[in-house]
Amino acid sequence: MKEAIDELREEIGSVTLVAVSKTKSNEEILKAYDLGIRDFGENYVQELVKKMDCLPSDIKWHMIGHLQTNKVRDIVKRNIYLIESVDSIKLAKEINKEAIKNNKTVSILIEVNIANDINKTGCSISSLDELISFCLGLSNINLCGLMAIAPHTDNIDDIRSSFREMKSLKSKYNLSLLSMGMSSDYKIAIEEGTDIIRIGTKIFGERVYK
Ligand SMILES: *Cc1c(COP(=O)(O)O)cnc(C)c1O
Repeated sequence: MKEAIDELREEIGSVTLVAVSKTKSNEEILKAYDLGIRDFGENYVQELVKKMDCLPSDIKWHMIGHLQTNKVRDIVKRNIYLIESVDSIKLAKEINKEAIKNNKTVSILIEVNIANDINKTGCSISSLDELISFCLGLSNINLCGLMAIAPHTDNIDDIRSSFREMKSLKSKYNLSLLSMGMSSDYKIAIEEGTDIIRIGTKIFGERVYK
């Protein structure tokens, strides 16, 4: 783990490294924490909430998985740092409602379905305009930027062009953050100007789903 983190730190410059800890134990998370990692990403609310409740309170938790409206409450009442996977008006509305109840502002990214894959989550590019305007009108949401998962392909040019498209969307809407790049493609994401990379396997090893 230490070698992987050292290597990443040399490569990333000022890009924020989020360690994706889904399926990984508290012990493994604490190992990364002891190496100085403070940003962690999780995909499942139940697992995230359990970890939030017993791990150090200075961890910045990123919600990166598909979020159902009925689970919003559990993370908004806790100390969620950034919800990266907002992909619908309904979800944004619910986050805002819970944020008002808890008297706080919640920072979010909109997940874009950049691969335009019907099986993938994320807001389609054609609906992005509407979702962004909607989020900007909400009192207790801070829209910080966009998140994307590259198309599932070995074709590096396709991956690069989707990252490039994300970068142009970030500029078009004048947003401050882009979250893109995972273990297999983060180098391309950095070259294309990402602000956040989300790395699981490279730091923690392969995941075993039980
Ligand atoms: C699991 C996951 C990651 C990390 O993937 P690795 O390939 O293990 O680095 C990043 N982003 C999202 C949205 C994920 O679900």
